[in-house]
Order: sequence, then C-alpha cells, then structure tokens
Amino acid sequence: MNESTDCIVDPGATPGEYTRVRSSGKGDYAHRVAWIEANGPIPPGLVIRHRCDNPPCRNVAHLLLGTHADNVADMVSRGRNARGEDHGMAKLAEDEVRRIILAVHGGGTVCEVAAQFGVHNSLVSLITTGKAWRPVLDELGIPPRPTDRRKLNDGTEAIIRQRYATGSVSQIGLSREYGVSQRTIQKIIKGRRH
Ligand SMILES: [Zn+2]
Repeated sequence: MNESTDCIVDPGATPGEYTRVRSSGKGDYAHRVAWIEANGPIPPGLVIRHRCDNPPCRNVAHLLLGTHADNVADMVSRGRNARGEDHGMAKLAEDEVRRIILAVHGGGTVCEVAAQFGVHNSLVSLITTGKAWRPVLDELGIPPRPTDRRKLNDGTEAIIRQRYATGSVSQIGLSREYGVSQRTIQKIIKGRRH
C-alpha cells in the first residue's frame, strides 16, 4: 500500500461499507467511480479491490484491479487472520460465516447458499470444508464436509453411475448422500475419473 497517503472517505460514509454514489445518472460505488476517473473503464470481468481493506475509501492510490477470486482469497485470509481481533469487519464476517455453515448444514446446497448470501460458491465450499474459518465450524460442533472423491472407491462410483442411470435420483441428491460436490458426481457419471 502507498503509505504516503491516507484513506479518503466521504463524510457520511458508513464504516466497513462501500459508499453508493450516482455517476452519469447510474448508481455505482465511490471507489469504482474514482478508479474509472483515474484509469478509464474497468475491464470486463474484473473488480476494483482495496489494498487498505477499507471499503468506503476512494483514494486511487489504495485501489487496484483484481479478480473476484482475489476478493474471495482476501476474505479467506481475513477470516484466518482476524480471529480474536477486535475488528468490526471480522466480527461481521464471522457472523455471516456462522450463518452460511448453518444454512448448508440445514440442507442447502452450496449453490443455493452462495446465492442467498451473495458470495461465490468457492467461498461457501472453503468454509464448509473447514479450509477457511475452521474455528467457527469447530465452535458449532459441525464436522467439515469431505472435500473430494478420494474416499469413494471404484465400487461406490459404479453404484453411483447405476443409480443415476435409473433416473430415480438426481445429481444433487447423490452429492448430498455421498458427501461430495455435485461436480464430482458429474465427473463420476461421465466416467472421467483418472
Ligand atoms: Zn484507503
């Protein structure tokens, strides 16, 4: 981060939240508008990230282009590093993580829960498999979901293929029953194992 400049936050901004502004008649966020004014349009598929981890900040020296995956990685590392700190963002995030875990534990699919909370599927997977915010999972006494299909042997995979072929069970149903992702079930059904 450029340490020579301070964050620029508009009066009336809510700490920890992006600031909404109107730009060319459309609603947008202050940090995005600041970046566009300095650098031109944001390339498709990319997002503007904060080096300073201060969402309302619109100091262009603190902003950088990144991918959505970068933002997910940021959230993950914050979850890992911020535990126990008296940090408003971390507390908010932890509460949300708790609700995400409970939603999946209650039978929601990764996709459904991700959509409900407005986060990426990969973040829900990282949380529920215990790769991120593991202490929250442990606190709730919920075991991490299995992360891959290594626990499925060839015999089990054959059964999965047969059962799916009968049309009596959906891919989602199989993924829940066997504790693997729907994508894993898809690969098994297509026979792409090795
Ligand atoms: Zn800043």
